[in-house]
Amino acid sequence: METDLLSEYIQTVQQRTQSLYENARDASNESPHLMMACLEELRAALEELHVAEEELRLQNESLLMAQTTIEAERQRYQELFEFAPDAYLVTDLYGTVREANRAATELLNLSHRHLMQKPLITFIHEDQRSAFRVVLNQLPAIHRVQEWEVCLCRRRSDPIDSAITVETVRDASGIAIALRWLIRDISNRKRSEAQLHEAKLQNLELAESDRLKDQFMATISHELRTPMNAILGFSHLLLKRVASLEDQNLAHMVDRILRNSQHLLELIEELLDFSKLKSRRLQLRPTGFDLTKIATDTAQELRCLADQKGIALNVDIAQETLSIVNDPVRVRQIITNLLSNAIKFTEVGQVTLGIWELPEGRILLAVQDTGIGIDPSDHDRVFHEFWQVNQSSTRNSGGTGLGLAIVHALVELMGGTISIESKIGQGTTFRVELPRQLQ
Ligand code: ADP
Repeated sequence: METDLLSEYIQTVQQRTQSLYENARDASNESPHLMMACLEELRAALEELHVAEEELRLQNESLLMAQTTIEAERQRYQELFEFAPDAYLVTDLYGTVREANRAATELLNLSHRHLMQKPLITFIHEDQRSAFRVVLNQLPAIHRVQEWEVCLCRRRSDPIDSAITVETVRDASGIAIALRWLIRDISNRKRSEAQLHEAKLQNLELAESDRLKDQFMATISHELRTPMNAILGFSHLLLKRVASLEDQNLAHMVDRILRNSQHLLELIEELLDFSKLKSRRLQLRPTGFDLTKIATDTAQELRCLADQKGIALNVDIAQETLSIVNDPVRVRQIITNLLSNAIKFTEVGQVTLGIWELPEGRILLAVQDTGIGIDPSDHDRVFHEFWQVNQSSTRNSGGTGLGLAIVHALVELMGGTISIESKIGQGTTFRVELPRQLQ
């Protein structure tokens, strides 16, 4: 617009100079005052030429400034493009590379010179080329494709998984003129996804084999229980008959059969309980009963074991009767397991069973011993199934490593908590907190 104005100025000045020249030529001889007028006119025209020249200079200056700014911007964008961490490419509409940044040359493992003018499709894995061509043809119409996962084959390197985002570049009138590509290497992500998938599969397999193991344990223990009960029953009968025969040796043998069968049955019952607890098939049968009585009776049953080892077994219960609502069989099982462990792992001193009422309808049951103790680093693990502190010392004491796992699961099922306090060589205390009434 301003340039047009300037040309108009110059044109006007030219016309005036021309007419002045002609006027001066015709009038120089006849009228000198006309000559003066012409000169005046010429001065004005020159003045206007000056203005136009000044205008031109200013315009030139601002043009130069604009050019410098554009160049700086272009440089900045070129650097951004060049040093971007992701691979950027510009291709024509047929996918032939026209521009590529450094990340793109590194990703495709090709020098800039060799990458230029190369059709991008040559880097696509053979199996995906026809699909790639279809998308390429559609691009001018669909404008943009995002996170398109493609396998890229690079020069002298392993293929990589990549995610491509591509969009069309349009001119001022909206006609597609080029394609702009952003290519990201997602092989690491793909690898982690595959590993995660693998881990999930393995987890499923583990869960399935765990389920099969539980099922196997449940079936085997169930199947073993019936013949064991028969052996127990018949050896009882046999023992009675043998007693009347007064054959000490035979009586001793039958007695051993009976005791070993009892022990085996206990182990089987333990396995069965544990598998039921694990598969959440164990149902509590709540009923009201006197906890003091159950605790005292249980201690009494185990007293002979403590006597055999020459250790004291104390019962410390303030209330003569303490009625609670729970499953008496399972509460007895908790006390038996804790007390028999305490006796088993104590060589000198005493074992004490204590019961107290706590506020908010709870009761505390504690079994304390002066035995070998458990290292603090093992406190959590004692509740894991089949876990035993020291295989050799435990083997002397027998056991399956299921007792505390069963206690833990039962206490949880009853809505209670169990904790352990122990020092090596000084003894152990297990504390069980239970609601006085099962929910
Ligand atoms: P088991 O007694 O059949 O081995 P448990 O689950 O009852 O299995 O106990 C697991 C392990 O915890 C025992 O083998 C023993 O090493 C340790 N433990 C349990 N109670 C005591 C205790 N009162 N004193 C010392 N160690 C104990």
